[in-house]
Amino acid sequence: MRQIGAVDIGGTKIAAGIVREDGTLLDRIECPTEPELGYANALARIESMLRQLIDRCGKIEGIGVACPGPLDPLSGIIGDVGTLPGWENSHLAEEIATRFGLSAAVENDADAAALAEYAWGAVRPKGTLIYVTVSTGIGGGIVQAGQLYRGVHGAHPELGHQLIDPSGPLCYCGLSGCWESLASGTALSSHYHKVAAESGSITAAEICERARRGDPVAKQAAMRTAHYIALGLANLVTLFAPDSIRLGGGVMQSSDLFLDEVRASVLRICT
Ligand SMILES: [Zn+2]
Repeated sequence: MRQIGAVDIGGTKIAAGIVREDGTLLDRIECPTEPELGYANALARIESMLRQLIDRCGKIEGIGVACPGPLDPLSGIIGDVGTLPGWENSHLAEEIATRFGLSAAVENDADAAALAEYAWGAVRPKGTLIYVTVSTGIGGGIVQAGQLYRGVHGAHPELGHQLIDPSGPLCYCGLSGCWESLASGTALSSHYHKVAAESGSITAAEICERARRGDPVAKQAAMRTAHYIALGLANLVTLFAPDSIRLGGGVMQSSDLFLDEVRASVLRICT
């Protein structure tokens, strides 16, 4: 069976793996992103990880790279990514392709996840699928009949920065009260700190654990997150009428706390 090299570049780590055509991950290696070391250093580490994996798993026929946006998926050139200073205008796809003598593609990480969900998700999709990742931030991608939805010049639709409540907190995107500023793990954490009047840094995962143990402030904060997740999803349902929406990301590891409320709210708004 054919296999490809896969690279996932994140704010904290870079992961590389070998994936078979049927979606099976054969092996993987990761390293910290350490963005301060610069683009050339990261590229060398990506090459080294992929070569180690090829030694272990055998030859690959192409390389796919998921990277935070903005980026141009058609040319494989990286834009001004907040978490990757100094990477702007780098020809990431072309440089990886040249190093291995193979074709390589770079895709926005949320769009890459949407494609993966479409191809290898738990339930076989049909029609239009929207994938949303709720994590440190919120991102998403839309797949229609197996094809990624792209905007003008290949632009990625920023689902996470749709306006939900103009009286909400200011986001780095320039809007106050976008979806990410209200429903992400970061938003959950900052809201909890405010209402619990607690200093230090309590992660979204810890807050979810406190909510499960019955902490009333944590439970209320989780319900608030569920409410805002639902508002954004309801907009997506209204605008796209998709066949299915799939949720992923770190916050959804605690889907037991959110999903019932999210489902009930979306149904209430959209029917
Ligand atoms: Zn925003």
